[in-house]
Amino acid sequence: MRIIEDIAEMQRLADTWRADRERIAFVPTMGFLHEGHLDLMRAARRLGTKTVISIFVNPTQFGPAEDFASYPRDLQRDIDLSAAVGAEVAFVPKVDQMYPEGFQTYVNVTQVTENLCGASRPVFFRGVATIVSKLFHATKPHIAIFGEKDFQQLVTIRRMVKDMNMDIDIVGHPIVREKDGLAMSSRNTYLKPEERPVALRLNRSLNEAQKLVDTGERNAAVILKAVNDCLTTGGGATVDYARLCNPDTIEDIEIISGPALLALAVWVGKTRLIDNRVLELPA
Ligand code: AMP
Repeated sequence: MRIIEDIAEMQRLADTWRADRERIAFVPTMGFLHEGHLDLMRAARRLGTKTVISIFVNPTQFGPAEDFASYPRDLQRDIDLSAAVGAEVAFVPKVDQMYPEGFQTYVNVTQVTENLCGASRPVFFRGVATIVSKLFHATKPHIAIFGEKDFQQLVTIRRMVKDMNMDIDIVGHPIVREKDGLAMSSRNTYLKPEERPVALRLNRSLNEAQKLVDTGERNAAVILKAVNDCLTTGGGATVDYARLCNPDTIEDIEIISGPALLALAVWVGKTRLIDNRVLELPA
């Protein structure tokens, strides 16, 4: 696998591949790779003829009090893992190349970023849309794969691509979970052993909510009350948000009448975990 740090070098390689009619499939990551990331890369290999992954912990999507400095990093391990799944290139730019002195241009997707993580993390989606757009300019993909774990991010990127006429297919990939149901995340490494059972309540509460819908409940307030109870009973968890939204617009819904996004962000000790499930009405 080739490791590229330089933006112009990445662009030249992408141009060569495009001239050779290769299809470039791209998976952006912040590194500290887990099986969820690797599954996205495997999907990229199936969808394209050249797989490019990026590893970049993006400073502009972290607020001043967030974990940019302590975010887990292990570049050599990441490179070994992505090479093993067959990626052709790991694009690993440096912060000062992505954000040179005087940088002042940002991409701002407005409405779909207002709720959920946008409300809790004010600079987050501006940072995400900006870096993804810059990574697209560097890697020139035909296809880009994003995890449904970050559902609002996926919706935001789809919106950006549509609004900015970017000629890129955005593919969503299902959430990959540990055997015990915990959604895989680089931040799971922060969890202390005694916090793990608390963290498992996220997935459990999503499943409980689907059961309520299966048995006829349609009232969001009733479902969210049950979700909050499931998350907080036993202590150790602080709910940042638990909301039911329209999966296209990310606006809150009060009565479920079609697929409904149940999105969670929960503090377990010092770790903020997110998870979600699109609740489906019984056939
Ligand atoms: P990150 O490194 O956290 O920025 O994630 C990079 C990409 O991997 C994003 O598109 C995430 O949505 C995706 N991803 C992270 N965790 C998972 C997971 N457990 N299942 C599926 N996709 C994931």
